[in-house]
Amino acid sequence: PYDLLVVGGGPAGAAAAIYAARKGIRTGLVAERFGGQVMDTVGIENFISMPFTEGPKLAASLEQHVKEYGVDIITDQRAANLQRNEMVDIELQSGATLSSRTVVLATGARWRELGVPGEAEYRTRGVAYCPHCDGPFFKGKRVAVIGGGNSGIEAAIDLAGIVEHVTVLEFADTLRADEVLLRKAKLMHNIDIIANAQTTEVLGDGDKVNGLGYTDRATGESIKLELAGVFVQIGLVPNTDFLKETNVEMNRMGEIIIDERGATSIPGVYAAGDATTVPFKQIVISMGAGATAALGAFDYLIRSSVE
Ligand code: FAD
Repeated sequence: PYDLLVVGGGPAGAAAAIYAARKGIRTGLVAERFGGQVMDTVGIENFISMPFTEGPKLAASLEQHVKEYGVDIITDQRAANLQRNEMVDIELQSGATLSSRTVVLATGARWRELGVPGEAEYRTRGVAYCPHCDGPFFKGKRVAVIGGGNSGIEAAIDLAGIVEHVTVLEFADTLRADEVLLRKAKLMHNIDIIANAQTTEVLGDGDKVNGLGYTDRATGESIKLELAGVFVQIGLVPNTDFLKETNVEMNRMGEIIIDERGATSIPGVYAAGDATTVPFKQIVISMGAGATAALGAFDYLIRSSVE
């Protein structure tokens, strides 16, 4: 068995593995795909100390750094369940089980998709999910934000400072965002907010996005908007389905609840990064959280090893 097994190979998992291995304990890392969301990122400009880097390049150096230590790396494997027996057992989809005295869950998250025609086709060609990351590409253009929750309205306010105009489309008849955000958005001259709007398709010219279609749910009318970008802000889904049958405590959104040491509700099970209740989902934040969880787990190990 391992002393510490990391589930996930994104920034949080890589940081946890490095911190654990440097303590000289038996460390494993199991991940579906090394690099996580970073592999899907084109340019990164907020990785502190590096003014610019590219996702696959950062993912490669994460992997190289982990490999400098004796970490047992297992990729192309998906965790399917967790059981707290004498050890913490991680059951893989393949049927195998990995046992460890402690575990760091770092399975990250994924953006919720609209699931309408054109979305997948124009992904990275006008369809975007991260305003912090892709906003500047739409400078001086018209864009839409789909979703009128806090992240949608925050995105609209953020984008309004860069782009020419932002239309927010919300499916429900009321907006769920905080009042203070809505007030701020309404004060900005280049934001329009449309409620009761069901986005039906992303339109394009074959090369990039040039519009969007929606149905006014009150009247049934189909409406088309001309624009260059569509930011989908309907939620970030944590990759925690495999914990559903376990006692790992999660919030309503499926985020793993952790304390300031990264500890979950199960002794010896720690968590870090986008899969947790951490309020901001970013690379540097996930790395710090991964280090915290590994140190938390190490502290647990040295306290529980006196038998
Ligand atoms: P992830 O990166 O999501 O990694 C999760 C890991 O867990 C992966 O290895 C995955 O394969 C694995 N995994 C998932 N489920 C299982 C399972 N059941 N079993 C085994 N393994 C599993 N942040 C920035 O700071 N700057 C940016 O410019 C930036 N741009 C972004 C652009 C895009 C397009 C996206 C999608 C995100 C961007 N982010 C950016 C956010 C950043 O990528 C995330 O905050 C960060 O990657 C989270 O790290 P993580 O390790 O928690 O999770």
